[in-house]
Amino acid sequence: MENLYDVVIIGAGPAGLAAGLYSARAKMKTLILEKDKAGGQIVTTNEVANYPGSIDDATGPSLVARMVEQAESFGAERKKDEIVKVELQDKIKVVTGEKDVYKAKVVIIATGASPRYLGVPGERELTGKGVSYCATCDADFFTDLEVYVIGGGDTAVEEAMYLTKFARKVTVVHRRDELRAAKSIREKAFNNEKMAFIWDSVVEEIKGDGIVEKLVLKNKKTGEITEIDAPEEDGTFGIFPFVGYIPKSELFKDFLETDKGGYLITDPDMKTAVPGVFAAGDIRHKSLRQVVTAVADGAIAAVQAEKYIENTFEN
Ligand code: NAP
Repeated sequence: MENLYDVVIIGAGPAGLAAGLYSARAKMKTLILEKDKAGGQIVTTNEVANYPGSIDDATGPSLVARMVEQAESFGAERKKDEIVKVELQDKIKVVTGEKDVYKAKVVIIATGASPRYLGVPGERELTGKGVSYCATCDADFFTDLEVYVIGGGDTAVEEAMYLTKFARKVTVVHRRDELRAAKSIREKAFNNEKMAFIWDSVVEEIKGDGIVEKLVLKNKKTGEITEIDAPEEDGTFGIFPFVGYIPKSELFKDFLETDKGGYLITDPDMKTAVPGVFAAGDIRHKSLRQVVTAVADGAIAAVQAEKYIENTFEN
């Protein structure tokens, strides 16, 4: 059968790449599909300090480049294609992309999650014109400028600290008066002289004529509106919203069970309720979304995929 793979993996972040490595290494015909660049969210972060063994100058992109090389060295194929439709119920699964149609005995879904938008006026229009969701990609544009980071979780605070290496001043705007970020991360941030905090505040609007010029904030406790203008000498400033993520499960929701946040439900072996369909990484309902848990999910999914194929196709 044309284009029939043992395992098709949708998504080339750490979960998909680890699944690809284990699957190809087990001599299964393996294809990893990715709509854009490999890497998933980890390529948007510069420091990967909590992946065991990843020390010194390991960055998100460098770690991913090595994962890709390793998966390919065992024979995993990679293709760039945006998946638009999946048919998962039958024994042979069909995954349809914009460029091609792929058939597989097993599908591993590793599509991850994407940044949540603030959903305020001006945000979409000014994305790439002062509003950015990737500090690693865009920090350099804000060298010696001021930057506002929106959110109070681990991502917001870690990325804010990274931005202090470039920006003159980084102000974290959080909707409560206490950060959600882990204590170790919080402490570093409070000790960083370039960081400032605006508490109890949400973004109402981002304004600017082709470039960010004004940030409108509302104090949630007092209702007071504050307009922050770009310093005259700069003419602009940066805004980096880091307010959580949304799972990329839209294509699968009709076939597979999700939690109320839209994350796919699996058992501990990464099996969904549909035989031959597995999920791995940030797309899953789970308690810890990190590279270390993503790669573990990918490995488990691939090993279980091998067992499933043996039991289903080779008896
Ligand atoms: P998160 O933990 O969900 O935090 C999102 C933050 O954005 C929260 O502070 C939330 O406020 C705020 N927020 C949500 N919607 C908002 C809105 N519309 N307007 C303003 N603020 C809004 O997301 P995350 O920081 O991206 O982290 C995601 C996961 O990755 C977490 O499990 C985190 O621990 C993990 N992570 C770990 C590390 C690390 O270990 N080094 C690094 C990055 C991420 P509230 O606090 O009021 O809810």
